[in-house]
Amino acid sequence: MVAELDVEVAVVGAGFGGIGMGVALREAGVARFVILEEADDLGGVWRDNTYPGCACDVPSHLYSFSFAPYRSTSCRYPAQPEILDYLRGVAREHGLEPHLRFRSRVETAVYQDGAARWEITTRDGARIRADVVVFAAGQLHRPHVPDIPGRESFAGAMFHSAAWDHDCDPTGLDVAVIGTGSSAAQLLPDTAARARRVTVYQRTPHWVLPKPAADFGPLSRAALRLPGAHRMYRRALYTGADLLLAPIMRRGWSARPARALARMYLRRSISDPELRAALTPDYPIGGKRILFDSAYYPTLTRPNVELVTDPIARITPGGITTGDGRHRPADVIVFATGFRAPEFLVPMEVRGRGGRSLRQEWAAGAEAYMGLAVPGYPNAFLIAGPNSFTPAGSNPTLKEHQIAYIIDCLRWRERTGAAAIEVGEVAMRRYRRWLKRSLAATVWPDGVRSWYRHPNGRVTNPWPASTRAFARMLRAPVDQTFVPVAAVTDDRHFTSAII
Ligand code: NAP
Repeated sequence: MVAELDVEVAVVGAGFGGIGMGVALREAGVARFVILEEADDLGGVWRDNTYPGCACDVPSHLYSFSFAPYRSTSCRYPAQPEILDYLRGVAREHGLEPHLRFRSRVETAVYQDGAARWEITTRDGARIRADVVVFAAGQLHRPHVPDIPGRESFAGAMFHSAAWDHDCDPTGLDVAVIGTGSSAAQLLPDTAARARRVTVYQRTPHWVLPKPAADFGPLSRAALRLPGAHRMYRRALYTGADLLLAPIMRRGWSARPARALARMYLRRSISDPELRAALTPDYPIGGKRILFDSAYYPTLTRPNVELVTDPIARITPGGITTGDGRHRPADVIVFATGFRAPEFLVPMEVRGRGGRSLRQEWAAGAEAYMGLAVPGYPNAFLIAGPNSFTPAGSNPTLKEHQIAYIIDCLRWRERTGAAAIEVGEVAMRRYRRWLKRSLAATVWPDGVRSWYRHPNGRVTNPWPASTRAFARMLRAPVDQTFVPVAAVTDDRHFTSAII
């Protein structure tokens, strides 16, 4: 690793966001940029999550970049290794390899008021000076492993779903799976098929909708071979997600039919009334991310699978004890317990104008204009920042909209000749008002506990509207949202840095 580096743009993270940003930078003619990645490979969540059954429940024809559309005529839901291969292919074909710097974990990013530039340090001691920094660290990459009493005493194998221990073969063993979100639902079928017994510890049931088969049938395969069919299919998925899924979160027209469908699917899948009752959510559909999964319910009816709803009291060397005093043995514990999603950019230390600390400003919940810019942090952008995760569509699509806007910002900065630019307070206030109003109309603010919310209750992660609305709002001209920022050499002028 070079100890000192001088670049135009430093991108932090090499998942969908960072790779998409890299491609856009190359197309915009930016030659001097780096993509700093803490791991030793690209891929983000698609590199980290290798649990059996890992796939995406959004069809890849939509869950792919518009400039590199996924075009299989046989498979609609490829598995994790293929999604990772897709991202690797995009990086290779767009010449990103020379820009990627692995094992480069960013520790600090500090805006230098005098130079109007960023100075970034990595754990391995490198110092990178960049005109612009783009944080593309994502929302779902820091595993949450709950501090359950007795955890350290467990004698068997114990790991998080996003750090799967492939040396641990569950064949013939007793496995405990804690959590019942998307990851648990996907890893359960394979685990249950191999283990002697699987105990699933559920705290809150999720709403579940059936997922179509991974592979297309013969008719769809034939149709997808027609000219323009892929483009039409992608468009249909995009529009379908916007019209059918997005309104669910806002108690819109599709919430009732979606709930009815989920209830019917539960009734048809689970005949045992007690199990069905345990799996019936008591909060509005959309409150947590809906599971699209057709293998989860059938797995729960297997004779070697038990769903436990009594709260976990403690972990013992040989298993798990629940609140009712019952102890169930376990050789393996899988924490499918999600991610520390509301802690954006942690543990990086990010300091903006005048030394202000992003961690402090975000202590009561992160916020950013369209999830991509924060007042006081010139020439700094985010991809998939606060409130820009869609639970009702394709996140790579939202990221592409953000990336296009960031490129517009960079062009505007160049045109104006400003040393730096940042989102203006007026635009931020307007956006904040809109966000508050829009979130208030969703099922999230007073609803069930989920990773969408900061522990203080503030909804910090999901986007409350459609993807079309996201794209439309990002059509706002940059000169009406951003303001130029001058380089400041005198401490007294920090507050008047905005031109
Ligand atoms: P998650 O949805 O946050 O689920 C975590 C689970 O662990 C919940 O059931 C939660 O219960 C439980 N849990 C957490 N702490 C616990 C504790 N102390 N004791 C008992 N249970 C505890 O996490 P995830 O399943 O990893 O999914 C996270 C997100 O990743 C998803 O929402 C989705 O956006 C994304 N994902 C997507 C796909 C896909 O196919 N597109 C696949 C996997 C993941 P509570 O509900 O009671 O909190």
